[in-house]
Amino acid sequence: MLAINQIQVKELISPCNITGIDYVINPYVGCSHDCTYCYAEFMKRFTDHTEDWGKFVDVKTCEKKLNVKKLIGKKVVLSTVTDPYQHVEAKFQNTRRILEQLVDVDTYVSILTKSSLVLRDIDLFKQMKNIDVAISLNTLDDNFRKLSEPMTPSVSQRVNAIKELHKNGITTKIFTSPIFPYITNISALYRELKDDVDEWNFENLNLRGAYKARVLTLIKEYYPQFYPNYLKIYAQKEDNREFWDSVKQSIEQNFSAVNHRILFYHSSHTKKEWRVEPLL
Ligand code: SF4
Repeated sequence: MLAINQIQVKELISPCNITGIDYVINPYVGCSHDCTYCYAEFMKRFTDHTEDWGKFVDVKTCEKKLNVKKLIGKKVVLSTVTDPYQHVEAKFQNTRRILEQLVDVDTYVSILTKSSLVLRDIDLFKQMKNIDVAISLNTLDDNFRKLSEPMTPSVSQRVNAIKELHKNGITTKIFTSPIFPYITNISALYRELKDDVDEWNFENLNLRGAYKARVLTLIKEYYPQFYPNYLKIYAQKEDNREFWDSVKQSIEQNFSAVNHRILFYHSSHTKKEWRVEPLL
């Protein structure tokens, strides 16, 4: 059961200290996609919710319009700690209303989502000068998707979303994120989407928060053959860098001719790193 509330906020947009990003807009607090590994779970601390993370969504309402003048030439990301196209967006349309304010503004907008609902707004994307849409997808196996991201749109819906966006001339990115050791098949994703993706982003699975136990339990129960290897990678305080170095090396070799970014170990980096807030 999902608890949905409307909350009044003074501002929808916040300055962002992630290198290369000027502002971030999170149209909702909470996320009903309920991913087992959600890096944004820490956000619950800033709410009064007693429900678990993933079981509540606060729909932000804001009387103030965006100050679009200050956004000229800047980069704006939707979103870092929620999914702008999660289920409630179909009804409340917060994301769409924000994009409507940005259509004529000479700013660079980046969308990051796991939802095929993003296709609804192709009409707006087509009117925007600088827009890219990143879909987060780390598997082609819908059984694994159901286990790790129970409330997200299916793999085929997301694959179709990337292809449709590309067909419509929108710059597309994929976040192969997080890479699950021994489960995420990067080559299979590449074969499926190589003609439809303008930029590939890779992020390793970090197990630092409360979700560490949840993820390890999932692996133990459904992928027991990999469980000993997961313990080797994650049993220590620091992840086993040797494992991730070999993944990194393999990506560098196989994607040398492809536009890509490797975003491993983000949480231990400082200001220079691409992100300091969690992403989807
Ligand atoms: S990982 Fe992203 S899509 Fe999944 S629950 Fe967290 S914020 Fe939502």
